[in-house]
Amino acid sequence: MSIIEVRDLNLFYGEHQALHHIHMDIDANSITAFIGPSGCGKSTFLRTLNRMNDMIQGVRIEGSVKVVGEDIYQTKVDVEILRKNIGMVFQQPNPFPKSIYENITFGPKLHGITDRQKLDEIVESSLKAAALWEEVKDVLKKPAYGLSGGQQQRLCIARALAVNPQILLMDEPTSALDPISTAKIEELLAELKETYTIVIVTHNMQQAARISDKTAFFLNGELVEFDSTPVIFQNP
Ligand code: ADP
Ligand code: ADP
Repeated sequence: MSIIEVRDLNLFYGEHQALHHIHMDIDANSITAFIGPSGCGKSTFLRTLNRMNDMIQGVRIEGSVKVVGEDIYQTKVDVEILRKNIGMVFQQPNPFPKSIYENITFGPKLHGITDRQKLDEIVESSLKAAALWEEVKDVLKKPAYGLSGGQQQRLCIARALAVNPQILLMDEPTSALDPISTAKIEELLAELKETYTIVIVTHNMQQAARISDKTAFFLNGELVEFDSTPVIFQNP
C-alpha cells in the first residue's frame, strides 16, 4: 500500500516554477532517496510532503499530495496533526538549547502528555530507537549542545520519533557529519525502516545506492527517473 501518493504536483515560487508535474507513490516501510544536482527541487519536493513550504511567502501549489489516504492540501487538514505524523530531520543538527531530556519531551508535552513516568518511557524508547540511549542515559539533564555532531543528529532523530510519527523526512541528514557518524545513521535507517517510512534527500549517490529501496532522480524540477534502487544504479 502507498502511504504517500503525489499526483500532478506543480510548485511555484512566485513566477518561478520549481516543480513540474510530479507523480510519485511511496510504499510504507521503505526508504526512498531523492537525488539530483543542487537546485533541482529535491528539498522543495520533500517540504511539500508535510506542508513545510506553507511557511515560505509566495509559494503556490497545484495538484494533490495524499498522506495515508488524506489530501493534505485540503484546507480542513490540521497541519499540526499532519506534522505530528511526519517527523523531519535537517542537514544541520538543530537540537533545542535545552537538556537532552527536554529535547525529547518537548513534542510529547505539546501534544498533552504530562505524566512523568510516561515521559520517562518516551525518552528511553526514543533514544533507544535512535541508537543513542547507551551514550546519554547518564547525562539526560545535560545540555544537548554538549553532544558531538553525530550524537546531536541522532538526538534530532529521537526527537522526531518521540511524537510517534509514521513518516520521517530527512533533508541531507548526514551531509554535515563525519564518515563514522554517517555510517551510524545509515545503519540506524535500516532498522527504522521496520517501523517508519523514510524519505531522504541526499547529494551522495553512493549513499542512495547503499541505503534506499527506491531512488527518485530529479532534474530541473522534474522527476526524470523513479524506480527500485538497483535498477536505477545499473542504468547510469
Ligand atoms: P535542491 O534541494 O535540489 O538543491 P531546492 O528545492 O532547494 O533544490 O531548490 C529548487 C529551486 O527552487 C532552485 O531554483 C531554488 O533556487 C529555488 N528555491 C528554493 N527555495 C526557494 C525559496 N524559498 N524561494 C524561492 N526560490 C526557492
Ligand atoms: P540546500 O541546497 O542545502 O537545501 P539552499 O542553499 O538551496 O540549501 O537553500 C537554503 C535555504 O534558502 C532554504 O531554506 C531554501 O528554501 C532557501 N532558498 C534557496 N533558494 C532560494 C531562492 N532563490 N530564494 C529564496 N530562498 C531560497
